[in-house]
Amino acid sequence: MGDEAKVLVFSFPIQGHINPLLQFSKRLISKNVTVTFLTTSSTHNNIIRRAIAGGATALPLSFVPLDDGFEEGHPSTDSSPEYFEKFQENVSRSLSQLISSMEPKPNAVVYDSCTPWVLNVCREHPGVAAASFFTQCSTVNAIYVHSLRGAFKEFQDDVVLPAMPPLKGSDLPVFLYDNNLCRPLFELLCSQFENVDHIDFFLVNSFDELEVEVLEWMKKQWPVKNIGPMIPSMYLDKRLAGDKDYGLSLFSAQNECLDWLDSKPHGSVIYVSFGSIAVLKDAQMIEVAAGLKQTGHNFLWVVRETETKKLPSNYIEELGEKGLIVKWSPQLQVLAHKSIGCFMTHCGWNSTLEALSLGVSLIGMPAYSDQPTNAKFIEDVWKVGVRVKADKDGFVTKEEIVRCVGEVMEEMSEKGKEIRKNALRLMDYAKKALSEGGNSDKNIDEFVAKIAK
Ligand code: UDP
Repeated sequence: MGDEAKVLVFSFPIQGHINPLLQFSKRLISKNVTVTFLTTSSTHNNIIRRAIAGGATALPLSFVPLDDGFEEGHPSTDSSPEYFEKFQENVSRSLSQLISSMEPKPNAVVYDSCTPWVLNVCREHPGVAAASFFTQCSTVNAIYVHSLRGAFKEFQDDVVLPAMPPLKGSDLPVFLYDNNLCRPLFELLCSQFENVDHIDFFLVNSFDELEVEVLEWMKKQWPVKNIGPMIPSMYLDKRLAGDKDYGLSLFSAQNECLDWLDSKPHGSVIYVSFGSIAVLKDAQMIEVAAGLKQTGHNFLWVVRETETKKLPSNYIEELGEKGLIVKWSPQLQVLAHKSIGCFMTHCGWNSTLEALSLGVSLIGMPAYSDQPTNAKFIEDVWKVGVRVKADKDGFVTKEEIVRCVGEVMEEMSEKGKEIRKNALRLMDYAKKALSEGGNSDKNIDEFVAKIAK
């Protein structure tokens, strides 16, 4: 099956989108598809350097840059309207030229749902299918769709939608509760749905058992297919030989933290990370630092280079053997380590899927974008963790951090036992989804069969 199929894969050049799209590329390759991973001219050199370091250049796939019209090194986190406009114009033109130059033409372009205009490029080239890849879950997708259809208003506090529990404003994707936060980003996220009636494939990085009711609702609107969780095969079905890392990290991981974890007892460490983008306010950083120390547990905390100056002075020295701070961790290896007892996370969708796939209990401290919704579901629907309660200004106290850690870490806590049980149940579903004949595996097979026709 799929001997002849050729696919272009395009990700927005940020870590949380590269990871699942690169992982999807590996799955396609394992099904005999030829994949070209598209970068942008301003990020290409960095991506190639990182791909060499992470091993992705050893994969049987090529990296080809599209001209985005920006100088090398221009930040891909630029969210100005001018950036998005120029990016779209240049990448569209460059992608179209690339497709024109290819013989035979690619069967499909799999693109980040945040670049919905790729559909127009596909339509300029008959026979090239358009597959929009959503890096967020169906629940979040459905909430955006309801919002765009006017089912609730901005700043609305009690939101009742089909196929999900009642939601508070603070459970909604941040931009829908306060869309003044960053208007261009809000518009970008809404744009994911502007042409979904016309796409050929609607792929979502999730798995069926996780969102049964919402998926059913979404399927009544579009032929949504789950293909996740898109994390390395070693942590799931183990069918992709040697696939234990994403293979392309924009940050350099401090692998020595694994030795430190080796020295800690089973289930004794709190792993703390707020992902690749989230920025904590200075006072919040100090409070998290105090809270973690006050728990009395061992902890491994990822504080990115740009955040380290916010740590209290002498903090690292005072921790001694109790705590370790790194600038970036090999997160999958950390989550899979036997000494990890729980994961305090910002609830980015990749981090959430990684924890679900590895059966790790969660403490959600969401900040931005879809994270509050993920946190709501972690606590109240999947029941695989707790969510910190913030005050009206979004501040979380150290006492609250200590309380949440107690709930998930204490051996005798009833809630903790329930959480661990649910985490193992969902881990099982995650692994089955991508095993031979699992729902996500079947959906990928079906995608390959359809584009190869
Ligand atoms: N990650 C990592 N090491 C770290 C922190 C994060 O490898 O120290 C990875 C993590 O495994 C995940 C990605 O970075 O795959 C972060 O994506 P997520 O969607 O969780 O959050 P974002 O960074 O997009 O906010």
